[in-house]
Amino acid sequence: MYPYKPVDYFAIDELLSDEHKIIRSSIRDWVNRSVSPIIEQAAHEHKFPHYLLKEMGELGAFGPFIPEKYGGSGLDYISYGVIMTELERGDSGIRSAASVQTSLVMYPIFEFGSEEQKLKYLPKLAKGEIIGCFGLTEPNHGSDPGNMETRFVDAGDYYILNGAKMWITNSPIADIAVVWAKDEEGKVKGLIVEKGMEGFTAPETKGKWSLRASITGELVFDNVKVPKDHLLPNVKGLKGPLSCLNSARYGIAWGAIGAAMDCYNTALEYSLERKQFNKPIASFQLIQKKLAEFVTEITKAQLMAWRLGVLRNEGKATPAQISMAKRNNVNIALQIARESRQILGAMGITDDFPMMRHMMNLESVITYEGTHDIHLLITGNDITGISAFV
Ligand SMILES: Cc1cc2nc3c(=O)[nH]c(=O)nc-3n(C[C@H](O)[C@H](O)[C@H](O)COP(=O)(O)OP(=O)(O)OC[C@H]3O[C@@H](n4cnc5c(N)ncnc54)[C@H](O)[C@@H]3O)c2cc1C
Repeated sequence: MYPYKPVDYFAIDELLSDEHKIIRSSIRDWVNRSVSPIIEQAAHEHKFPHYLLKEMGELGAFGPFIPEKYGGSGLDYISYGVIMTELERGDSGIRSAASVQTSLVMYPIFEFGSEEQKLKYLPKLAKGEIIGCFGLTEPNHGSDPGNMETRFVDAGDYYILNGAKMWITNSPIADIAVVWAKDEEGKVKGLIVEKGMEGFTAPETKGKWSLRASITGELVFDNVKVPKDHLLPNVKGLKGPLSCLNSARYGIAWGAIGAAMDCYNTALEYSLERKQFNKPIASFQLIQKKLAEFVTEITKAQLMAWRLGVLRNEGKATPAQISMAKRNNVNIALQIARESRQILGAMGITDDFPMMRHMMNLESVITYEGTHDIHLLITGNDITGISAFV
């Protein structure tokens, strides 16, 4: 492993404030200290290093844009972005944990929750004292969550929830789940389901070749009695979960750049050291083509993420712009992981270097929070006004 040298080919650092840089360096130091030394082993063992969650909470990696009143840091969206880049440089699974806690659990409680719900859950979620998960995907409904089958009915003093969610990041270790389900009128609403409620289980999904250092599972609801004050009162319809996904996808657009930079940096250093035909392999045109394309794509991704952050800070980033950035930046990261692995030849397949882990992780990242193709169709819909997917 080489010391990490981030890419800043277009002096994008000049666009960041001192506060952004301080946040970035504290997360970067933490990743160097706490993630990089253990992550290959965790991925081998298919184990989520969950003790890191508390440290991430203490660092301020959860809910950076949530107001301080509720335990967040009251920062802007560029701060959220730089945190995601640094975490994903360490591992997409570690970034996923922060994305879920921040954008898929804290965000809906902050945006759609009652004051009591905000005060009860947000400060603890911010500190990592409790962990949350987000249940939207079901065994029969991934890209089309609007057809979800999970239902709740009014039973007087409480609601009765039935159904199942699948592919839920952190579900087996979560203290609470923000669950999206349909009411008796077929309207999608959010419920906060707590661990220990009778009839609620969250079995782990094993055997993943991707995001092995992240824990994934199901959410199964068998006549779960959910108290009425656990309903998120201020949201109705699919726009609720979709706005959470927007926030998470925004973070992923920044995060994927971290994985791409780690792969590029490793390939560059290795190619300068490794000699074949009595020359460093970096001197060959085909290697330089790869490296030059990596740095070009990373720079384009950084510019897109930065501009998206400015728009999001101004409340102007559209879901379609976020889709485009998520799709593009994850795709370039995956291509860079694959191609940079080749620069290392056989050594690239070992766990001495991060490419295979990033590459396998990014296969999930390109699928979750809207697949690569669905995001393309969102752009198509936005520019033509015609939906090609519903
Ligand atoms: C590791 C991991 C963690 C995850 N974490 C969470 C989580 O925390 N919470 C959560 O709710 N979900 C989570 N997901 C689920 C994820 O969001 C879904 O996997 C994703 O939305 C795709 O759904 P699907 O897997 O059911 O694929 P499908 O929807 O079955 O799609 C299969 C293929 O068909 C294509 N396709 C589908 N519809 C169309 C169409 N109309 N036109 C063209 N092509 C189409 C897709 O692009 C894809 O290539 C996670 C997934 C993974 C892998």
